[in-house]
Amino acid sequence: MKRLVQKYGGTSLSSIDRIKNVANRVGKWRETVPEIVVVVSAMAGETNRLLELAYSLSDNPDKKALDQVIASGEQVSAGLLTVALSDLGYEAVSYCGWQIKIITDENHGKARILEIQNTRLEGDLGDGKIVVVTGFQGVTENFLSITTLGRGGSDTSAVALAASLGADECLIYTDVDGVYTTDPRIEPDARRLNEITFEEMLEMSSLGSKVLQIRSVEFGGKYKVRTRVLSSLKNPKLSIQDELSCSTLITQEEDRNMEEALISGIACNRDEAKITIPGVPDTPGIAHKILGPIAEANIDVDMIIQNAGVDGLTDFSFTVPRSELKRAIERLESRVIKEIGAKTLHADQYICKVSVIGIGMRSSVGVASKMFEVLSNEGINIKMISTSEIKISVVLEDKYMELAVRTLHAAFGLKQS
Ligand code: ADP
Ligand code: ASP
Ligand code: MG
Repeated sequence: MKRLVQKYGGTSLSSIDRIKNVANRVGKWRETVPEIVVVVSAMAGETNRLLELAYSLSDNPDKKALDQVIASGEQVSAGLLTVALSDLGYEAVSYCGWQIKIITDENHGKARILEIQNTRLEGDLGDGKIVVVTGFQGVTENFLSITTLGRGGSDTSAVALAASLGADECLIYTDVDGVYTTDPRIEPDARRLNEITFEEMLEMSSLGSKVLQIRSVEFGGKYKVRTRVLSSLKNPKLSIQDELSCSTLITQEEDRNMEEALISGIACNRDEAKITIPGVPDTPGIAHKILGPIAEANIDVDMIIQNAGVDGLTDFSFTVPRSELKRAIERLESRVIKEIGAKTLHADQYICKVSVIGIGMRSSVGVASKMFEVLSNEGINIKMISTSEIKISVVLEDKYMELAVRTLHAAFGLKQS
């Protein structure tokens, strides 16, 4: 390998000892790889602390100013890692997003990377310097405001940099040694996958497995970045060979050589809330009238269900991020409910979503019925269902999430053998 991007998450940088470990690990790689870019997150808990500070001043902080505050955690860890690398005798330099021109749109708090103008990095790498870059942050096209890429956004900074620099590989170092069949914090018997396809990883991330931010997976798939997830918590002196043999490679489907499993993983989240509007007229244009104002407010809608109409009326349900529920209700109450002739809306924030994912589902039937049978045997009621070619998701009462994940994990034979 000639050029590598590595990313270290918050837990990997949570103390001075861990920062030293990261510096030692980067140094080890530098002995064999001439060009290394390291992308860092803020130290664990720091982004939350910064958010709390801003929210203690206002319930609705100015979005530009908020980004300026929460982007600062990454600047600290980039600087600290550079100090540690220099202390080990490596030539290292650190940059913020604006300095290496990670240009984003103006959507503060969840900005998208538009382009990276990395001429400066090419020069440093050519000079043999280790380049440390702040994850999570970018700058608007006019260079007037700092933006952030959404929670977990350092993954996206890393994969986007790897794509833009044509790196041989992007190593995402975190507190687990790869992508597991489900969150190992929920199912200790979860199994590490040696490989997972981008497509499956995309579903896993979008359905709640926060090991990789979804946009990083989109970038990786689109620009064919060889992306690997591995642990930063092991001894930094471990040989490179041993590190790589205990990791997960995200593969293009056509490269995949492992035996295809029916189900690769189970994802879950408690990030959504359900809104139901009963008694909606069953006429053309209603879905647009309800969801248009929600989209205009830049609120993502996930599952949508419209029942068959009875007597010209129907019930319309959909889910939104739990953090946006209040805003969605305000929009609907002020602009939609009366206008469409409905009387009221019901909100339920005590829901969770559990999904089974696997490209093997494409060529197999019966996964959905098995999933429903397993849940019904546990007495768990399903509130909503949605499917795609490679996943089935159900919305359940939030208290059943762990039970549902563990029983499905066992029923689909995903446990460690
Ligand atoms: P970092 O701070 O390094 O970015 P994150 O906390 O964002 O780390 O992501 C790592 C965490 O993702 C793990 O500790 C694990 O609990 C969680 N996780 C959720 N689903 C999975 C999965 N399928 N495989 C591995 N980890 C998962
Ligand atoms: N520090 C940011 C967060 O906590 C970005 C990241 O860790 O990837 O979400
Ligand atoms: Mg993360």
